[in-house]
Amino acid sequence: MGKITGFKEFERQDESYTPVVDRVKHYNEFTVPLKEEEITKQGSRCMDCGIPFCHSGCPLGNLIPDFNHMVHQGEWQKASWLLHSTNNFPEFTGRLCPAPCEKSCVLGIIEDPVSIENIEKMIVERAFKEGWIKPQPPKVRTGKTIAIVGSGPAGLAAAQQLNRAGHTVTVFERDNAIGGLLRYGIPNFKMEKGVIDRRIAILEAEGITFKVNVNVGENYPVEKLKDFDAVVLCGGATVRRSLPTPGIDADGVVQAMDFLTQQTKVVFGETIENQVLATDKHVIVIGGGDTGSDCVGTSNRQGAKSVVNFEIMPKPPGHRSPTTPWPFWPLQLKTSSSHEEGVERNWLINTKEFITDENGKLTALKTVNVEWKMVPGERPQLIEIEGTEKTWPCDLALLALGFTGPESTIADQLGLEKDARSNYKAEYGKYQTNVPNIFTAGDMRRGQSLIVWAISEGREAARQVDIYLMGKSDLPTKDEAGDLVAL
Ligand SMILES: Cc1cc2nc3c(=O)[nH]c(=O)nc-3n(C[C@H](O)[C@H](O)[C@H](O)COP(=O)(O)OP(=O)(O)OC[C@H]3O[C@@H](n4cnc5c(N)ncnc54)[C@H](O)[C@@H]3O)c2cc1C
Ligand code: SF4
Repeated sequence: MGKITGFKEFERQDESYTPVVDRVKHYNEFTVPLKEEEITKQGSRCMDCGIPFCHSGCPLGNLIPDFNHMVHQGEWQKASWLLHSTNNFPEFTGRLCPAPCEKSCVLGIIEDPVSIENIEKMIVERAFKEGWIKPQPPKVRTGKTIAIVGSGPAGLAAAQQLNRAGHTVTVFERDNAIGGLLRYGIPNFKMEKGVIDRRIAILEAEGITFKVNVNVGENYPVEKLKDFDAVVLCGGATVRRSLPTPGIDADGVVQAMDFLTQQTKVVFGETIENQVLATDKHVIVIGGGDTGSDCVGTSNRQGAKSVVNFEIMPKPPGHRSPTTPWPFWPLQLKTSSSHEEGVERNWLINTKEFITDENGKLTALKTVNVEWKMVPGERPQLIEIEGTEKTWPCDLALLALGFTGPESTIADQLGLEKDARSNYKAEYGKYQTNVPNIFTAGDMRRGQSLIVWAISEGREAARQVDIYLMGKSDLPTKDEAGDLVAL
């Protein structure tokens, strides 16, 4: 434990943001890190709990009290070693994770929780700066070959673990760059793409082969996967949700992912013909989650005339709802840095029609206010409130409604079973499909989720593949309580 009275002496501090007027002028990250002495104080707020709920809150089982202590002691290199022992890519989670660890931190019962995510980011950034993060190629190769399909956080974590176990790993990615949603979903202002490139360079130096523009099942026949001893499918959950609303095909109704991907590609010098732009437009973002928030931030950077957000669910309370007490994930209003940059947020509102002019161009949205009727034992019912119809001027409507599940192409061609939600079927903890040498992990197996879960599943799936190929594995894993059982 860093300092016995640390949590009483010091208040929580987080990195801050540059002013809105400045940051909306560019697409780079805009955080202002804490000074070293400030972050070591933050480390000392950790109480080193007898039962540290933080690391069971974390899907990776991160050794949080241990690295908090090391940071407080100024032992940054040891902190980095501890952090990397459970998490291949803390630079991703340290920037982007919603931090379930902090929501389950014991200090959070009476005070602001320990700023775990910020500490994580400071550790990994320090480690890169000092040159402590070096390629760790395996000493011995097993002669076994692995194909990983998809280069998001699940595929990358599985690749690094399997390579470290000595297998020869090839990652296939259909896009023109590695990273999955980290690359083209999440905007550059939330994570600069150099952060991915820096890590990929390490993975390549460790001996992993990356092949881009390879779409397995399309321009690369699935039969070729038989050349590998094992396959890990990490293709994500990429089927976008739409709306059964009249006018949905109007010119000006656009999927959020198209809008976000195009902008990131343009930031990196690609030319996109007829890029969808929010510039000088009345923009309405439908969907109040992370993707919706990213659309708000991007629209403001492109110079939208107005940005409005619709969410069909009720507005969450400003503080943790009593229905989700500690240490559960809280139902609570989230205001992101993109929301702070300017948006009118509306809850309990449903889109009834996309209105167009005579050329099929979007001009307005018709909406109605709604309420949810709860009947015990039944699914909640959506009720429209009479007399609340409203028309909103709109030239660009962005659909940020999430994803219904993975594409079925590979499953169909390989005869893989799917579950009731259309995800690739493999038991949690086993990751093996109905074809014994084919495994699956991340959003493709669990449905739309989080980076931290993708990394966790990629790591765990790698261990299962290693056991399948070698009969045993020295790769680390967690026990049922989420604690690390082997390094
Ligand atoms: C806009 C947006 C913002 C988000 N923000 C956050 C956030 O802030 N924090 C957070 O924790 N999570 C966030 N998420 C969710 C997070 O990005 C995902 O849960 C995570 O990336 C899933 O990782 P994955 O490796 O399973 O799949 P993905 O990241 O989706 O990667 C799958 C990869 O597989 C490739 N692929 C698919 N099929 C094939 C094929 N046949 N052949 C070759 N390649 C193929 C795809 O091109 C893709 O690159 C966000 C999601 C979106 C859409
Ligand atoms: S729960 Fe919070 S206070 Fe307790 S060990 Fe974890 S980070 Fe420290």
